[in-house]
Amino acid sequence: MPELPEVETIVRDLRPHLRGRRLAAVLSVNPLVLRYPSAESFRVAAEGAVFGVLGRRGKFIHAPLSSGDQLVVHLGMTGTLTLEHGAEPVRAHTHLRLQLDSGQELRYRDPRRFGRVLLGPERHLRQAGLLPPLGPDPLDRTFVGWPGNGPVRSSGRAVKAVLLDQEVVAGCGNIYADEALYLARLRPTRPASSLSASQWARLGAALTVVMKEAIRRRGTSFSDYRDGFGARGEAYESLMVYGRSGLPCVRCGRSLVARRIAGRTTVYCRWCQR
Ligand SMILES: [Zn+2]
Repeated sequence: MPELPEVETIVRDLRPHLRGRRLAAVLSVNPLVLRYPSAESFRVAAEGAVFGVLGRRGKFIHAPLSSGDQLVVHLGMTGTLTLEHGAEPVRAHTHLRLQLDSGQELRYRDPRRFGRVLLGPERHLRQAGLLPPLGPDPLDRTFVGWPGNGPVRSSGRAVKAVLLDQEVVAGCGNIYADEALYLARLRPTRPASSLSASQWARLGAALTVVMKEAIRRRGTSFSDYRDGFGARGEAYESLMVYGRSGLPCVRCGRSLVARRIAGRTTVYCRWCQR
């Protein structure tokens, strides 16, 4: 599932190619992934609009349009958003095709269809509950000092579960939660309330480090993720715990263990993470 580094890689790939481009035509839009508005309203509102500077909020891709609307894409589990030449064959499970005045097409593909596409003014989308509230972003300068003195610090939830909560930290998912906890040497099962101030600081710094390192490697292609041009990322090879249950810990050599926390498989080292 694409998390912050994968979404950020796509945004950086597509940004220079979309900026200033006119959306010439909506070639197709599948109502099954279009959460808002209707397909017909989407077409009317999108056609003719010019793309501004692409951005990211958590795991959401935001494309501002000259009309004042935002085209918002969430990749769900298996979504990809790629820029392709219009002449390239359209692959199965392509749910959105936007033709640009450059002759290229922006295509959204999603075999499992857990992703979503939205179009409207950002404020309206938030007020309507179509965009969830998001916590601080590990790439923001303001992330220093996370998580502040809010209710997270006294939460009895496992720290792993807390990291998956988008209102606590935007963009974090199963892969980078495990990686950050490993780097910070903290056991994922620990109640959040048991962490000291310095442990929180270590965890916050670890989140930023693992996200930045994964971006440098253009994201983790575990199965479906592809960058903005359809290529695989290389971060999978550098993961320290995710997907490595039973394999030796890179720090102490003992076997990593897997446990289910908050419904997600969590991998950690019983010796290095306390
Ligand atoms: Zn270890």
